[in-house]
Amino acid sequence: MCPDIQNGPTLEKITVNDVYTKNTNLFLNGSAANETVNTLLDHERLSLLYRGLPSAIAGNLILALILTYTQRDVIESTILFAWLAAMVLILMWRTFIFYQFRHQITLTHKKNPLIHLRTSTIATGLIWSFSPAFLFPAADIAHQTTLSFVLAGVCAAAAASLSMDRISALGFIVPPLLNLIFAFLLEGGKTSLTMALMTVLFLGFVAISCVRNERQFRENISLRSLALQREAALENSEARLRSLFDLSPFGIVLVDFNSGDIIELNERMLSLSGYTKDEFFRLDQQKLIPDDYENQKLAMRTSLINTGRYGPYENEIVQRNGDRIPVLLNGVLTEEDNGRKLVWSIIEDISDRKRIDKMKNEFVSTVSHELRTPLTAISGAISLLANHFTNTWPEPMQNMLSIAQSNSQRLSHLINDLLDIEKIASGKMTFNLEPHAILPLVEQSIEMSKPYALNYGVQLVLSEQSKNANVVIDPVRFQQVLANLLSNAIKFSPKGERVNVLVQRMPNNNVRVSVTDVGAGIPEDFRKHIFQKFSQADSSDKRAKGGTGLGLAITKELVEKMNGTIGFDSEEGKGSTFWVEWKSEEIGQKL
Ligand code: ADP
Repeated sequence: MCPDIQNGPTLEKITVNDVYTKNTNLFLNGSAANETVNTLLDHERLSLLYRGLPSAIAGNLILALILTYTQRDVIESTILFAWLAAMVLILMWRTFIFYQFRHQITLTHKKNPLIHLRTSTIATGLIWSFSPAFLFPAADIAHQTTLSFVLAGVCAAAAASLSMDRISALGFIVPPLLNLIFAFLLEGGKTSLTMALMTVLFLGFVAISCVRNERQFRENISLRSLALQREAALENSEARLRSLFDLSPFGIVLVDFNSGDIIELNERMLSLSGYTKDEFFRLDQQKLIPDDYENQKLAMRTSLINTGRYGPYENEIVQRNGDRIPVLLNGVLTEEDNGRKLVWSIIEDISDRKRIDKMKNEFVSTVSHELRTPLTAISGAISLLANHFTNTWPEPMQNMLSIAQSNSQRLSHLINDLLDIEKIASGKMTFNLEPHAILPLVEQSIEMSKPYALNYGVQLVLSEQSKNANVVIDPVRFQQVLANLLSNAIKFSPKGERVNVLVQRMPNNNVRVSVTDVGAGIPEDFRKHIFQKFSQADSSDKRAKGGTGLGLAITKELVEKMNGTIGFDSEEGKGSTFWVEWKSEEIGQKL
C-alpha cells in the first residue's frame, strides 16, 4: 500500500493547490508564474517519487532474492551473497530515507530531498549493474536469460515508476542494461549477439519512453498550473467582488428573472428593510414595494426585457415595521452560462436627500411667501408713481424709477416661479382636468401676450389647422404653459420678426400646439439641460433677456401633470419651435 504522504513533514504536505493558494502574488508576472510551475514540478515529482518508494524497495528486494535463488547453482555463493548484501544495504538506506521523510526526523536531506532520492535510486541501479559482471554464468544461456529477464523486469518497472524524473529513471536503467549488453558481447556467439542487440533495442525503447514520460509529466503540470492559476485569479476577483457586495453602501439583491426567487442579498439590504436574511428569503416580494408602484414594476420589467437594464426609478420600500423609505432603484439583467437570467438590483436609500430637499423647498417657499406681500406693495407703489406722477420729474429720476419698476417686476416673477415650483414639488398644485376646445384658449393666451410682444417689437401670428381640437387640460395651467412658451419666443426673437403659433392634429391624432420663433436657437450643448431648474444658455444672454431659468422647468411639470408631452426642435442661428401635445378628445365624447 502506498504510504500516506500527506501526513509527512511540511515539505511533502505542500500540494499543487497549496502552492497557488499560499502565494497568490506569484500570479503577478510571467517570471513568477514560471517559478511557480517549477516549484510545482519539484513538489509533485518529489511527492510521487516518495509515494512509490516503498513498493520500489519491496520490488527490488523480491527480484534480488529471486535472482540470488535462481543463480545459486551457477555462481559462487560468496559472490552471490556479497551482491545480495550490497543490494540489501542500499535498500535499507532507501528505507531509512523514507522513514526520515515520513517521521520528520532531523532531515539531513531536507535541503534537497530530490538529490537524496536520486542518489539512492541510482545506487540501486548500480548494484543491479554489477549483476551482468558477477552473476552472469559463462556459456549458460538458460541462466543468462533468467538474469536478462530479471533485469528487464526491474528496468521496465523502474521506467514506469520513475517516469516523472528522467535522471533517476535513466540513472537506474542505463548502467545494468549497458553492462548486460557488454556481457553478451563478451560472451560471443550468435545467440548472445542477438541477445545483446535485443537489449540495445530494449534500452533504446525504455530510454525514449523515460524522456517522453517526463515531458508528458511536465506538460501535465504546466496545464494544471495554468488551470489553478486561472482558478486562483477567479477566486481573487470573486473575493474582491464579494467584499464590494458585502461592504456596499447600497442595498443589492440578486433575483431570478423568471421565477422571481431571491438568490442573494447583502447586509445593507437587510439593514434597509429591517428583515433578517431568513425572513427576507421567505418574504412575499410584492410586499416590499408598495402597491402604488404597480405601474413602475411593469415598466421595470418591460425595460429589462427591452434594454437589459432599468432605472433609475424613485420608489419606496416597505420596512419590516411598516414604515416606508424612499429609495432609488437601478438594475441590470445578466445571463448565466446555463441560460438562467438574473436581475441585479441596486437600492439606494435617499431618505436624507429627500429630507434635505424638503427642508430646502420649505425654506424657499417660506422666504418667497414672506417676500411676496411686501414686494407686491413696493411694486404697486412704484408702478403708481411711474404711471401717474413722474411727468414733472427730472429725467434721471424717471430713469431710476423705471429701473426700479422693471427690477421689482423681475423679482415678483422669480418669487412666483419659486412658489410654483414648490407647489408642484409638494403636490399642492391642483389640476382641474376636463375636456376643452383648445383653439379659444390659444387665442386668449396670444391676446394676453400681445402687450409683451409689442414691447419687443414682435408680431404674434396664429395659424391653426385644426379648429375642433379638444383636449383634457386645466385651462388656467394650459394658459400658463403657453404664456411661458410665448414669452420665451418673444424675448428671444429679433425685433420686427414674427412668432408663429400653430394648432394642428398630428398623424397619431394628438393635438399639438407649436410656438415657433426665428431667434438665435438653442445651443447644442445646452439642449439636454433646457428643462432643468435655473438653467439658462449663458449668463450674458440672461442679463440681456431677463428671466429666472425656471420657466421651462415649471412648464414641463405642468404639461406632464396634465398628461401631455412637451418638446422642442431648434437650429442654432435659425430659431426654435417649442411644442406641447395632448391626446385628442372627440367632440360629444365628453363635452
Ligand atoms: P427663462 O426665464 O430664463 O426664460 P426658461 O426656463 O423659460 O427660463 O428658459 C431657459 C433658457 O432656455 C433660457 O434662458 C434660454 O437660454 C433658453 N430658451 C428658452 N426658450 C428659448 C427660445 N425660444 N429661443 C432661444 N432660447 C430659448
